[in-house]
Amino acid sequence: MRLVQGDITRQPVAAIVNAANSSLLGGGGVDGAIHSAGGAKILEECQQIRATRYPQGLPAGEAVITSGGRLPAAHVIHTVGPEWNSGHKGEPELLASCYRNSLRLATENNLKTLAFPGISTGIYGYPKPAAAAVAVREVRQWLGTHTVPTTVTFVVFDDESRRIYEQALAEI
Ligand code: ADP
Repeated sequence: MRLVQGDITRQPVAAIVNAANSSLLGGGGVDGAIHSAGGAKILEECQQIRATRYPQGLPAGEAVITSGGRLPAAHVIHTVGPEWNSGHKGEPELLASCYRNSLRLATENNLKTLAFPGISTGIYGYPKPAAAAVAVREVRQWLGTHTVPTTVTFVVFDDESRRIYEQALAEI
């Protein structure tokens, strides 16, 4: 596990994970950044997946894969985080599912390097320390039981998030 502070759209990894919304049609935050950096191909593939497999939208906790368009990463794994709502509506389990289902797609597609943003920690309001603890726990568990991916990078934008991940990684 690695920690990098910066823009996830610039990461030279096999796949980056997008904190998408259930429409799969783009949005703000990291979702908007990925679609604008990656170009129309990603959106076209998302529209196709939405129309053929998820006409009601991608449920929270699930993940799908597209190409990376013009991104350095060849693939984008789109997952829908839970919206934080008191923490008693299954949010921790849904967030854990986001990480596990994204990791599963990386394993199935033989993607050796993967980068995650802090899923749900922006617009969706999940408390950052609790989200980082889930992220680090799930990734460690997966890496301990699978040979691919080999390296998972947590990408944080701001200093506060970096400190929170440093602590979560130190505690595990
Ligand atoms: P969500 O709707 O799942 O909460 P957001 O995109 O609002 O998703 O935020 C998720 C996290 O991604 C936030 O911690 C935010 O600071 C971070 N973020 C936003 N843009 C980028 C980026 N380009 N690279 C890495 N992290 C980003």
